[in-house]
Amino acid sequence: MSKGGTTPLMEQYFSIKNKYQDEIVLFQLGDFYEAFFEDAELISKELNIVLTSRSGSPLAGIPVKSLDQYVSKLVKKGYRIAIADQLEDASQAKGLVERGVVRVVTKGTLFEDDLLDSKLNNYIAALHLTKKGRKELIVGLAIADLSTGEFSLTEFTDELSLNKTITELKKYLPSEIIFPRESEDRVSLYKKIEFDDFKPSPLITTVENFWFTKELATQFLRKAFDVSSLDGFGISEFPEGIGSAGALMRYLSETQVKQSLDNFTKIGPLKRDGMMYLDSSSIISLELIRNIWENTSEGTLLEAFDHSLTPMGSRLIRQWLLHPLTEKERIDQRLNAVETLKLNVIPHQEMRTSLDQITDLQRLISRIAMEKSRPMELIALNLSLKQVPKLKKHLEKLDDILITNLISTLHSLPEICELISQAINPTPNIPGSGEVIKKEFNEKLDYWHDILSTSNLWLEEYEEEECQKNDIPNLKVRNNKAIGFYIEVTKSHYSKVPENYELKKHLKNAKRYTTTELQQREQEFLRAEDEIRTLELEIYSQIVRKIGTKIKEIQETAEAIGQLDCLSCFAHIAETRNYCRPEITDSLTINIKQGRHPVIERIMVPEPFIPNDTILNEEERILIITGPNMGGKTTLLRQVALITIMAQMGSFVPAQSAEIGIVDRIFTRVGAFDNQIKQQSTFFIEMTEAANLLNNATERSLVILDEVGRGTSTYDGLSIAWGTVEYLHDINKSRTLFATHYHSLSDLELTLPAIKNYHFDILVEDSERLIFDRRLKEHSTDKSFGIQVAKLAGVPQEVISRASEILKLLDSQVETIDPSINGVKEEEREVLKKLIKEEISGPKQLSIIDFFAEEKGKKGMEQSLADQSQETIESYNKLCKIISKVNLDNMSIIEIQELIQELKREIN
Ligand code: ADP
Repeated sequence: MSKGGTTPLMEQYFSIKNKYQDEIVLFQLGDFYEAFFEDAELISKELNIVLTSRSGSPLAGIPVKSLDQYVSKLVKKGYRIAIADQLEDASQAKGLVERGVVRVVTKGTLFEDDLLDSKLNNYIAALHLTKKGRKELIVGLAIADLSTGEFSLTEFTDELSLNKTITELKKYLPSEIIFPRESEDRVSLYKKIEFDDFKPSPLITTVENFWFTKELATQFLRKAFDVSSLDGFGISEFPEGIGSAGALMRYLSETQVKQSLDNFTKIGPLKRDGMMYLDSSSIISLELIRNIWENTSEGTLLEAFDHSLTPMGSRLIRQWLLHPLTEKERIDQRLNAVETLKLNVIPHQEMRTSLDQITDLQRLISRIAMEKSRPMELIALNLSLKQVPKLKKHLEKLDDILITNLISTLHSLPEICELISQAINPTPNIPGSGEVIKKEFNEKLDYWHDILSTSNLWLEEYEEEECQKNDIPNLKVRNNKAIGFYIEVTKSHYSKVPENYELKKHLKNAKRYTTTELQQREQEFLRAEDEIRTLELEIYSQIVRKIGTKIKEIQETAEAIGQLDCLSCFAHIAETRNYCRPEITDSLTINIKQGRHPVIERIMVPEPFIPNDTILNEEERILIITGPNMGGKTTLLRQVALITIMAQMGSFVPAQSAEIGIVDRIFTRVGAFDNQIKQQSTFFIEMTEAANLLNNATERSLVILDEVGRGTSTYDGLSIAWGTVEYLHDINKSRTLFATHYHSLSDLELTLPAIKNYHFDILVEDSERLIFDRRLKEHSTDKSFGIQVAKLAGVPQEVISRASEILKLLDSQVETIDPSINGVKEEEREVLKKLIKEEISGPKQLSIIDFFAEEKGKKGMEQSLADQSQETIESYNKLCKIISKVNLDNMSIIEIQELIQELKREIN
């Protein structure tokens, strides 16, 4: 750009333009925004406005009041506009008015209502590609809409990552896409994404590469969302996605120079259509594929479930397990197929026999494609393909849409089977060894094999001849790799060696010789070996290439076999374990009759597993479950989640009957465990998981909460648990199972309509034993049987006896709370009793006054506590003070007794 003037005003303009060289700079001068030089020529042409001049340089202006309209036109044409405002009142300014860019407007950063189609989102995406191995790419993808505050991310890591990215982008149709400013060799990767296909085509913007680095991106996002960890958003399993999200956020904040981005309040994982979303914490806590304690597959649903017979089936079951479906039609299709297989016992049995003989076709075909396959793999391919017609024959008789569709993509490829049968020997040797290609497959090869074998025969005959001719009985004619063909004569016969023998090697007790005749034969032999090596390699690779022309068919076959294998596995399990077919509905009901835990019921053999009913629906959305330690709370919670996952995978489930109103996501907080690698406390993990679910759960979600709030002081914990349940009830409206030791939470049933209390009990309780009644019953209980469970666990008798004494003491103190204290009603007295019992060990953080006020408000009591006499309130406050100072860890039993006396005095 030629500098058209050196006035202070133009200097100010140039200092701005230098920073915004890729943008059209609109520079406010009073009631107009002016563009200078090339920018002026451009906007004059694009907006059809007058081009004037200032000191001989081009100038074009648009009125301030029409800015939006003109900017929108330019932006839609793909331009980027930097708007430089006057930052102070011109009339107040001393000297030159301060100006600066307040916003950069691009296609993806438009947010004005009247500039956007109200029926469409205005998405902006960021993505970056990282190479993994030779062929695979990891794609980190983030998508946001500045106009709605939507922000999500994901990443793709398999061979189809680029395709999946394109599919995703096509779903969202972002109007702008951000890439890292890659070096030349990487640019070609990005070019593979053909944006011309996108209608309308997005604006492509490149930014600094380092914006995408995970660490910086994380820092940036943490700051932008004002959190100390991103884990609460449920996105930590997508590090590359976080990289892109960080870059996108940074880009947005750079363009929205002076605007707030506060409308972005949360970021979440991108939903995959048609799939239930399970975040990594749910996958871990439900022990779907790894157990919590040893990180092995023992005791997991996958282990209990994977009775597939092929590697394709096994990998697919894992995927199905991690991505249950959310579309009724697709789930029902799978269930129909499973039911068909289950009912048709003989064809199903034959199908399983065939499946059992099928090798890992998916991996094998990849090696064939890379020309890396070994002869034995081709043999395995042949054997597997030979099972395909049998599979088809068994299944053709069955009347099922999914099975019929799958059969239609099974290719038996007889010509490939024939080729392998005719050409390849089942040998562990490598091509070129001469042992791979069968006889009579290739004439030329056979010719050289003949030469070789006749050479060997000739050696035997030659040995015989030389022995006799020279009268050397132990003369040997041999061939060895180091010195080739030779005649060996031992020491005692040296004198008989004829003149035509030429010495090759002198050993300790023997000499090795050659002759002209032997050398000629050796040459022939070596040539034959050479020819065989080259020819065999050539023929083998021709065969592999020929098979390679059928990659698509073999992949399709492998995929169909994987699916058939999974369906067969489900049918097999349903049959052998007495599972029922779930009814999938679009309602919000989960109604499981006589449900069992699919893993525990198998581990418990021969002890019987006690089935339970669970109903969650719009009226009873949140179940609060109390009961003794070891009573079965956690088991029930997981059982419901696992049955839901199994049902939505298309499997039968361990129950007498099950209605599953489709679940979009499962959130779990089951048994927090310290994450020492991340140096996070149990409580911190617990809270990030709670944040994740409260931010993302919908009314279609299933929430499993086990002991939320246990990781902190009792008051904190109870308050958090309380708040969480209320939020889930009022805001998320998710179907929720909540197991808790905070018995006071059961009181929520009285105030929140969609809450229902259940409990587990003890059948027999005496000093010697506890027998758990594993049946879930209505209402709540406040018995934990902690001491009895400690006894079962082997805690020394002295400790158990002492603990029992203390408990008795505490109980008797609580029981003596005077029912008639200054107008406190029975319900309030109960709450107080519970509080004393539960909270006596925790530092108080919640005023009991607030607590009661809350209780009263919720229960709709006629009188509020504020109406109570001042005296009562003061009493309560004093009580609070006493409790707040309690720290059980530092108190002797005597001190606890004194404390209870003091509390009692105060209450009286
Ligand atoms: P809680 O969460 O109440 O402390 P758990 O759910 O962890 O108790 O159950 C403890 C143990 O009780 C389980 O490991 C299992 O062995 C047994 N159990 C739980 N539920 C059942 C049931 N329905 N039938 C038989 N045994 C059960």
